[in-house]
Amino acid sequence: MTFDSHAQTPNPLAPDWLRPPADANELAAGLWPSSASRTSAGELVLGGVRASDLAAEFGTPLYIIDEADARARAAELLAVFQAEFARIGTNAKVYYAGKAFLSTEVVRWMIAAGLNIDVCSGGELAVALAGGAEPSRLGFHGNNKSLAELDQATRVGIGTIVIDSEIEIGRVAEAAARNGRVQNVRLRVNSGVHAHTHEFLATSHEDQKFGIVLTDAPRLVGLIRAQAALNFVGLHCHIGSQIFGADGFAESAARLLDVHAALLADGPVPELNLGGGFGIAYTSADEPTPIRELAVALADIVATECTRLNIPVPVLAFEPGRVIIGPAGVSLYRVGTTKAVDVSGTTRLYVSVDGGMSDNVRPALYGADYAVRLADRTSDIAPELVRIAGKHCESGDIVVDADYLPGDVTPGDLLAVPATGAYCWALSNNYNYQGRAPVVAVLNGAARVLVRGETIADLLARDTGAALSAPTNGGIS
Ligand SMILES: *Cc1c(COP(=O)(O)O)cnc(C)c1O
Repeated sequence: MTFDSHAQTPNPLAPDWLRPPADANELAAGLWPSSASRTSAGELVLGGVRASDLAAEFGTPLYIIDEADARARAAELLAVFQAEFARIGTNAKVYYAGKAFLSTEVVRWMIAAGLNIDVCSGGELAVALAGGAEPSRLGFHGNNKSLAELDQATRVGIGTIVIDSEIEIGRVAEAAARNGRVQNVRLRVNSGVHAHTHEFLATSHEDQKFGIVLTDAPRLVGLIRAQAALNFVGLHCHIGSQIFGADGFAESAARLLDVHAALLADGPVPELNLGGGFGIAYTSADEPTPIRELAVALADIVATECTRLNIPVPVLAFEPGRVIIGPAGVSLYRVGTTKAVDVSGTTRLYVSVDGGMSDNVRPALYGADYAVRLADRTSDIAPELVRIAGKHCESGDIVVDADYLPGDVTPGDLLAVPATGAYCWALSNNYNYQGRAPVVAVLNGAARVLVRGETIADLLARDTGAALSAPTNGGIS
């Protein structure tokens, strides 16, 4: 550890939340997968494998998932929620939100940990089934499921379908009847609570595409119950993503339980699904609420409300994605160029890497912040404010808007960006005909490919005219 007094003066271009680190090589607690460490020579090691070896074998950019970390997070979250809801006399089910990152291997990890899986398209359903998930352990949601998707889901015997609009009631019933099934369904409602990170907004109506207005729920549940091919399981609600604190969830749960209690007058309502959205740390300024604290607060509010309403406590269901897979992921990039840019007398060091908005679109999409560290070495040189830019043709193509790196960061360096396990590969794209990067799992000193990267041949494969005129790909693979 070096203490550099120079490093204690913030660069005026840095955002307020970002403090200059005493040691710009430190792997801050809570940001990196549990296996992350540095060798005595300063190299980043993940799952027992050196970052430089991973980059040499699989290239950059590269997504790395710490397998033990992801599996432990899934198992611990389930254990904590089950323990807290057992305390109030009920059970809790956990669905892994597959949209965060899904591959057949991740399906196997989640199923082995005792979780169910949520899908929201025919493609995600196909991956879950290819991973060997029993259809009864799957949930299907989305505001515009196609008739083909509903047919496929009911045919394979999917566990539950979340109905998102009045129109879907008839569609799901028809698909279920055609496939000779009585389909378990939830009804997605807007609790009027919308939350993101520290704030939540509570209104009586929400102006958004998902779900139905809470006051409409009794009428729609009546329509569901009138369908012989449907079995109503309970209400469903998802108030947002990357949420810190339990207050938004608690407010939403209280509102839902009022309606849940009214629905009990006309039939059973065995479950209540409060969705996902639990936040994680992307930078050292983020302090997400520990899962146990959330579970305690939610079990307490559910118990209190059920006592007040004099109703039995339902089985609870949750759908976290980010909090399970996000912190288990790290992205590796190679530095190509650096450029010191003078901004009204202050220097910002631009560091350009070989990926960008094609492998992580979250900064461009909604201003998401990330952290960065040197991955193949450490350095005692005083930290400088850096902006990690991608290689794409957009000035908003930023991977890390602001962090401090040792001032000698240079072309050829390997960089690591933590907390990229969720919504990075899943949202990846081929902008500028950049092939999608591979996803590699590391465990006990070994690495294996979960999803291979795309080659130039992959990129040309769907271009129907390519075979006619291109005898060569120019030697680039
Ligand atoms: C996105 C989503 C989730 C998962 O959200 P996370 O922030 O990844 O926990 C759960 N349920 C629904 C309905 C969603 O749309």
